[in-house]
Amino acid sequence: MIPGTISYWRKQLTAGSISPAELVEEISRNIETRNPEVNAYLSWDKEAALAAAAQADLSAPLGGIPIAVKDNICMQGEPTRCASRMLGNFISPYDATAVTRLKQAGAIPFGRTNMDEFAMGSAGENSAFGLTRNPANPDHVPGGSSSGSAAAVAADMAIAALGSDTGGSIRQPASHCGIVGIKPTYGRISRYGLVAFASSLDQIGPLTRNVEDAATLLNVLCGHDAKDSTSAPGLPAEDFAAGLGQSIAGCKIGLPKEYLSSGNAPEVTAALERAVSTLTDLGAEIREISLPHAEAVVAAYYIIACAEASSNLSRFDGIRYGFRAESPNGLEDLYNRSRAQGFGSEVKRRIILGTYVLSSGFYDAYYAKAQKVRSLVASDFTSAFGEVDFILGPVAPTAAPKLNDKSLTPLQIYLSDIYTIPANLAGLPAISIPCPQGEGKLPIGIQLQAPHYAETALLRVASALESALQ
Ligand code: GLN
Repeated sequence: MIPGTISYWRKQLTAGSISPAELVEEISRNIETRNPEVNAYLSWDKEAALAAAAQADLSAPLGGIPIAVKDNICMQGEPTRCASRMLGNFISPYDATAVTRLKQAGAIPFGRTNMDEFAMGSAGENSAFGLTRNPANPDHVPGGSSSGSAAAVAADMAIAALGSDTGGSIRQPASHCGIVGIKPTYGRISRYGLVAFASSLDQIGPLTRNVEDAATLLNVLCGHDAKDSTSAPGLPAEDFAAGLGQSIAGCKIGLPKEYLSSGNAPEVTAALERAVSTLTDLGAEIREISLPHAEAVVAAYYIIACAEASSNLSRFDGIRYGFRAESPNGLEDLYNRSRAQGFGSEVKRRIILGTYVLSSGFYDAYYAKAQKVRSLVASDFTSAFGEVDFILGPVAPTAAPKLNDKSLTPLQIYLSDIYTIPANLAGLPAISIPCPQGEGKLPIGIQLQAPHYAETALLRVASALESALQ
């Protein structure tokens, strides 16, 4: 398949140069060739996609465009396994609202992408169904937890994909794979049908080849949904592509001094410096700012995310759905063994941590304190956005690590989320765009964050930077 954007394929489809069924066939051929090595997809139902292609309405905004979907977003009649043994036999009886919206816009949701189990991880290595490799270099991880969605787009096995981002899981794999990933403002996209990890942080979003495609997908995905009580009501309809191509002269962009850490790899620092000089050339004004609680975000996030996960994942009890241990010796044994055998070690670690920080003796010391830190982080952003329009920074302190690096402790892995977590704690929109590195080098992304609901402006700056960095 010729790598192409949504807008490229839409032109081909509407001009009649290719039919939706032929496009599905092209993508399937690429999946068959590339997936055995990359393992970006856990499953794909070509027949269902061809049936949808036969009905595709080419006059709709995404008419005839196949979109890959992360394995934690429900797709009716297809496995929704969250890359977990616990849901190994689960077939979703309904569509997530995001999937319904894709279908209503004429798109063809196609394929279930691999991920870290229940979206817990940063490398794609926590899947119960095998790790995913980075298409840019198969000895490296693709990032996570939306590992398969990012790798599928980067390896031309998908035109675009949906992921979910609780602490960076769209932006970080996009950065490691050299594509675009945006986490919208919390509440922009319905979470109905997204299997909950940490409900106050989770957000669905697109992984695409460029910023324009991200805008196209947001136009379809965003909007109030009565089925999600945290979905933002009363927002005016917006065209997220409205600012693309416009000048960014005069924009004020903050660079937090806390993000210029000596812990960043030299190539990350170099990418950030390139972004600063490119934005300056485009007429933006770069100002040093401070986010004083930047150091505390990882601790606060892992307390809150694990606390919410321990509660959300209690539904997987071996009774209602999912995996059940064989020949249980009573109810307690059924619960214990189903959960012991169904969940992988990272998921268990987080359930234990989450249960601990919520327990009566420790609630105030950990959970309540983490909530206070979360408020402080949010107020740091409120102050910063009094001074600047956007905040620039790295996505991750390093490029994609090597696969199976056993020298990394869970804590070291958690610390690498330091730049992506703040946007989730504060509910802000944030985007990762590639900073091209040249032949043979691992991809590196640049992050831009914006105030709540400022996606249109964020995409305008991101697209100006994207074009100028080419
Ligand atoms: N790496 C983070 C974690 O492991 C983020 C995951 C996510 O955004 N789903 O929790």
